[in-house]
Amino acid sequence: MERAQHVLADVFGYRQFRSQQAGIIEAVIAGNDALALMPTGGGKSLCYQVPSLVRPGIGIVVSPLIALMQDQVEALTQAGVDAAFLNSTLDYREQMELERRIAIGALDILYVSPERLLQERTLNLLSDTTLALFAIDEAHCVSQWGHDFRPEYRQLKLLAERFPNVPRIALTATADERTREEIVTELRLENARRFIASFDRPNIRYTISNMASMGARERLWRFIDAEHAEDAGIVYCLSRKSVDETAAWLRGKGRTALAYHAGLDADVRRDVLERFRKESGIIVVATIAFGMGIDKPDVRFVAHLNLPKSIEAYYQETGRAGRDGEPANAWLAYGIQDLIQLRQWITQGEGSDAYKQVQRQKLAALIGLCELPSCRRQALLSYFGERQSQPCGNCDNCLEPPETTDGTVLAQKALSAAYRTGQRFGASYIIDVLLGRSNERIERAEHDKLPVFGIGKDTDETTWKGVFRQLTASGYLAGDDEGYGSLQLTEQARPLLRGEEKFAVRLPSKETRQKAKPKRA
Ligand code: ADP
Ligand code: ZN
Repeated sequence: MERAQHVLADVFGYRQFRSQQAGIIEAVIAGNDALALMPTGGGKSLCYQVPSLVRPGIGIVVSPLIALMQDQVEALTQAGVDAAFLNSTLDYREQMELERRIAIGALDILYVSPERLLQERTLNLLSDTTLALFAIDEAHCVSQWGHDFRPEYRQLKLLAERFPNVPRIALTATADERTREEIVTELRLENARRFIASFDRPNIRYTISNMASMGARERLWRFIDAEHAEDAGIVYCLSRKSVDETAAWLRGKGRTALAYHAGLDADVRRDVLERFRKESGIIVVATIAFGMGIDKPDVRFVAHLNLPKSIEAYYQETGRAGRDGEPANAWLAYGIQDLIQLRQWITQGEGSDAYKQVQRQKLAALIGLCELPSCRRQALLSYFGERQSQPCGNCDNCLEPPETTDGTVLAQKALSAAYRTGQRFGASYIIDVLLGRSNERIERAEHDKLPVFGIGKDTDETTWKGVFRQLTASGYLAGDDEGYGSLQLTEQARPLLRGEEKFAVRLPSKETRQKAKPKRA
């Protein structure tokens, strides 16, 4: 480990390892396989870069992202490391030269795409030289269950047989339990040591507001001007049109703001990336096309002018802020219009009904997070299966608790109704039962004869919807795995039903309430 410490200081200029890095690096240097789960910005790269430099031979890094390879190789080269990439962008002569360096071992780290690595020519080349390790980045790509499935990743299991003495480390930022097991089986990592870092990004402050009176842009400007007058940041918008408009508007305010979306030429986009990385204080206004492969450590804020499509997306996108560990802001303002738009896109989009149902549930969970009156970080982490016992003290709700009212009885009614109807229905069905609104389905199931039928008549439908979203966001109710939209009670619901716990519901903001109030003559 002493050598690793030296490499960290001399090559990378850092004083100490972060959370899980030391353990992972130690295991790999000792020749063990490893599985590393770390959030974006957690510092996965060092986990294979350092052992590649400490162990004899070349470290082979498998990555699906060509842009990322190029960035990393450039950064490593600047730090004095012999690094290169082998992919389709090389011409014949460059390729020959690289192969020669590989054969004589004149290289520390080689980045390669999975397709390229799996070619017999490459495998033979590597068999004849000393290898420090294989790092398999974005390892969740082996999973059919995940959203990034790449069939060639499955063939990487042959590395275990062809290179039995070379340690392999798989890395990913997104892996639920099921994906994790798939990685282990598919990559033959049964003996790998597992390292799972917390997904918490304590330096990011979360702020989410509902636009009521003031327009979103005006609010955005107040935020940027007050807190990030000279900082680099990213502003996400839903449409290309609003990207262009918002960028122009920010330029009008005197900031350097560049638009980025898939409708722009590749050259223009490359130029935006380049300037964002090299110049200081640039704001990139983008659709979500901007993201994969940005490695700028000092992005001080990520702002959303619209709703992201899920909590996963929100976490990924906000995760681009503050990768250097210094304080950063994740700021979101949304309106009801976004919700309508996103729902429409889901309905009109491709995919089976079950798939669409999952998308709707994910969106509902995000709305729940937005409306939550309690700690955002606790809810965010709980969504990823991580419990944090204390409120964080670094989100809007912790810093300025919103107005709430005791919703314990409402919550109990909602949970009872979900339970009595057999935990087989979604929120809208259960709300009909609560409101005592019968329909054919309810009659067929004889749910109009239940004691819970009509017990929620005193409360309006909008409030009920809010209660269900908040119950889901705080983990009392969970969607089923099959995606049929039914809500089930979790373990957490018990103490609330027994009255051992209180449940606060967020009141609509003052502005919304004033708007909603009927005008009196
Ligand atoms: P990931 O691949 O997990 O998203 P990176 O490997 O790109 O994250 O690291 C994120 C940022 O954190 C980079 O700017 C990196 O240089 C920095 N970093 C990583 N490890 C350390 C460390 N031990 N000390 C300081 N900075 C670090
Ligand atoms: Zn908090």
